[in-house]
Amino acid sequence: MTGMLEGKAALITGAGGGIGRAAALVFAREGARLAVADLAAAAVEETVALVNRAGGQAISFSGDVTAGDTVRAMVDGTVAAYGRIDCAFNNAGIAPYQVAASGHKTADWSEDSFDRMIAVNLKSVWLCMKEEIRHMLAQGGGAVVNTGSIAGLIGLPTSSAYVAAKHGVLGLTKTAALEYAGAKIRVNAVCPGFIKTRMTEDAMRRRGEAIMAQIPQGRMGEPEEIAEMVAWLVSDRASYVTGACYNVDGGWMAV
Ligand code: NAD
Repeated sequence: MTGMLEGKAALITGAGGGIGRAAALVFAREGARLAVADLAAAAVEETVALVNRAGGQAISFSGDVTAGDTVRAMVDGTVAAYGRIDCAFNNAGIAPYQVAASGHKTADWSEDSFDRMIAVNLKSVWLCMKEEIRHMLAQGGGAVVNTGSIAGLIGLPTSSAYVAAKHGVLGLTKTAALEYAGAKIRVNAVCPGFIKTRMTEDAMRRRGEAIMAQIPQGRMGEPEEIAEMVAWLVSDRASYVTGACYNVDGGWMAV
């Protein structure tokens, strides 16, 4: 049986850990040739090693996805290696504690923290799509998935700029989906709930019990549970799905 991404070339950002690394392993299992990118060079090399060990193929890029020329080099490098870019998972992101805004209400965020959050979690998604879509138009199609969040659907106290960025990601996703549907480029988003990665360690420590009480399934999600949705969304099996935002959240948004 062939994998659902057999013959596809895929780029994943934020692939040095968590959801991005899990996606790399699931994409590889499904037959994709990978380009994995992250700010953390050692971490992304580790992902390459894991993919290779699992019998897959991956190249790596390290750099900051908030810089246009860096993103262009990642996307052009993917196309140089594999001749095309069929699938893109724009996933790199940071949490409020990573911009020194942990626990801060809206009026208490610093301008620097706000700007960095928007740059990493929103502008980068646009920069990635800008470069990816250019190649996808030239090759006659492709599939993009952006990482949103349930924070893109609701307000979350003390996560102001994170929530604003993730709402923005869903807006970008829907707009690009409309613009490129006729060019056979599908653009979707995945909205994870509370997933077991480095990003949630801080929140889990501070208010894990309260968060668990809000989740109908009563547990955190595993990064692999997001990765499975993303692999399906970028595959041809999702051929009629575009402009959609899929919640993978243990039922949280159904409450
Ligand atoms: P993570 O911290 O394990 O992974 C994020 C990765 O992005 C890291 O490897 C990090 O080095 C990389 N990164 C951060 N800034 C970067 C930059 N400027 N340039 C390049 N790479 C950069 O966290 P995760 O939970 O796997 O997060 C992945 C995505 O999922 C993020 O967009 C996050 O907002 C989103 N998300 C996570 C959860 C959750 O509960 N973990 C929930 C909803 C959404």
